[in-house]
Amino acid sequence: MLVILNAKATDEEVKEVTSRLEAWGYKIHISKGVEKLVIGGVGVPEINELECADVLRSLPFVEDVLIIVKPYHLVAREFRPQGSVIKVDDVEIGGQKVVLMAGPCSVESYEQVYETAKAVKQAGVRILRGGAYKPSTSPYSFQGLGEEGLEILSQVKKELGLLVVTEVMDPRDVELVSEHADILQIGTRNMHNFRLLSEVGKSGKPVVLKRGFGATIEEWLLAAEYIAKEGNLNIILCERGIRTFEPSTRFTLDINAIPSVKDLSHLPVIADPSHGTGKWKLVPAVSKAAIAAGADGLLIEVHPHPEQALKDGPQSLRIENFLSLVEELRAVAQAVGRSL
Ligand code: PEP
Ligand code: MN
Repeated sequence: MLVILNAKATDEEVKEVTSRLEAWGYKIHISKGVEKLVIGGVGVPEINELECADVLRSLPFVEDVLIIVKPYHLVAREFRPQGSVIKVDDVEIGGQKVVLMAGPCSVESYEQVYETAKAVKQAGVRILRGGAYKPSTSPYSFQGLGEEGLEILSQVKKELGLLVVTEVMDPRDVELVSEHADILQIGTRNMHNFRLLSEVGKSGKPVVLKRGFGATIEEWLLAAEYIAKEGNLNIILCERGIRTFEPSTRFTLDINAIPSVKDLSHLPVIADPSHGTGKWKLVPAVSKAAIAAGADGLLIEVHPHPEQALKDGPQSLRIENFLSLVEELRAVAQAVGRSL
């Protein structure tokens, strides 16, 4: 349940609510906005929730008590009606600006990452993407450079003053990947890896949580709740396409999910048109659609020589195509009251 107090509530008033919630068996999470202070009571209470709510409503400083029937609480829109802005260094995700994250699917070499990073930086991109640990459907295909890939990302990040988002696949790697990354990425295949979700939750690092390609929106938000439950609300949801009966594209980017999730959750939402289509030619149109639908950012694969890419070449934009796409995106962002 959510207990709404005025943002100016005193420490004693907050304590009065939290100690009652704890006594009933709830765990406490507090969110303070400009006008309201929301105390989230999470878990299943020992007594009837309706009775608990009535007790709290009778306290004079409690403005409202909401019983959330949704299975997730901390990531629900009601927990932070004003929406969340995730700050990564000086970049804000979920604010007025649409944030671009771009770079190769996989880290292949220092030269490849540097060349791509330099080009995307010129287009105004602040967040470089690139996978060092690659989830592969086949055990025989490229698995990523691992720690060496992380070192390359760190090196380029330092040289060019960029921020880095990169995937972590194993709970045991969270610490190591966190040393190199500014944002941890949970891939589509790991959205249901609950140990991993809890571990990145404990790390406190900003997380891009991709939607499982077979997951409903509710399952996706419950995965986010696993991270939030550990005290980490720095979560950026990423719609990256779901599996449908349509064989002409690799996945189907679910445009509906963008406004749906914005309505259901306070978390920022970005879109990945590269995996969402699997075809570089479709990436510009779907990128524009995602921004028009309210996406807070895009995650786009760019490669200097897609024909030589070790992974996802067919969906990677050449540098010149990426640069012209950014100009087109500016106009779409402006049309929906945002900027790049
Ligand atoms: C990726 O970003 O390169 C990736 C593997 O993404 P996904 O988990 O969405 O397939
Ligand atoms: Mn990829």
